[in-house]
Amino acid sequence: MDFDTRLAQAWVRAAAAAVGEEQERLTELDSAIGDGDHGSNLQRGFTAVLAALDGLDPAGPGAVLTRTGTTLISKVGGASGPLYGKAFRALGAALPEPADPAGFGDALAAGLQAVRDLGKAEPGDKTIVDAYTPALAAFRAAVAAGADLPQAAAAAADAAEQGARDTVPLQARKGRASYLGPRSVGHQDPGATSTALLFRALADVTTP
Ligand code: ADP
Ligand code: MG
Repeated sequence: MDFDTRLAQAWVRAAAAAVGEEQERLTELDSAIGDGDHGSNLQRGFTAVLAALDGLDPAGPGAVLTRTGTTLISKVGGASGPLYGKAFRALGAALPEPADPAGFGDALAAGLQAVRDLGKAEPGDKTIVDAYTPALAAFRAAVAAGADLPQAAAAAADAAEQGARDTVPLQARKGRASYLGPRSVGHQDPGATSTALLFRALADVTTP
């Protein structure tokens, strides 16, 4: 199974739906260690993404993801908008067409690199990077072991969810939560949590 235009559209729509369903939870998490806007930030961003995709000629999966990123950058004010926006733009730009599972893994790696270039977060800083890094590693390990796209995406989603849970004992060293110092310990990071939602959405739409 290649990652084609239909899957790209389905992924972004499923991500938007997941953000809508989990908006309150994301906001609660961000209220504990941030300013309580992560859910509404992403909800606003993905609502605009859906509108942008409706007006988009189906010009290939890379174009769908690039447009998603551009829209997130322009519509989301918080830190997460530029971070996810750059990630989707890099993913779209790096996507080979057709994208087999290994090629999609390379594009995912470009997305993580974009987050790290912009945000300068290391693994363990209690950010998006803490869900994305294990998700990418699991995706690639699965592909290397012969997995197809649905299997690799499911492994990535499981690893992202574990990575998000593993942010609970961490002290934030980047973003707004870092202002809390040790008081950021004991809470799950909102951005790592939304990253897990994005990977779960990918797994859901690729599963036949
Ligand atoms: P803001 O912090 O501006 O209110 P959001 O609430 O939308 O923005 O997003 C907060 C999330 O952004 C955090 O939970 C964290 O995961 C992520 N984040 C913040 N700074 C960084 C960074 N430098 N690198 C990676 N992720 C980051
Ligand atoms: Mg916030």
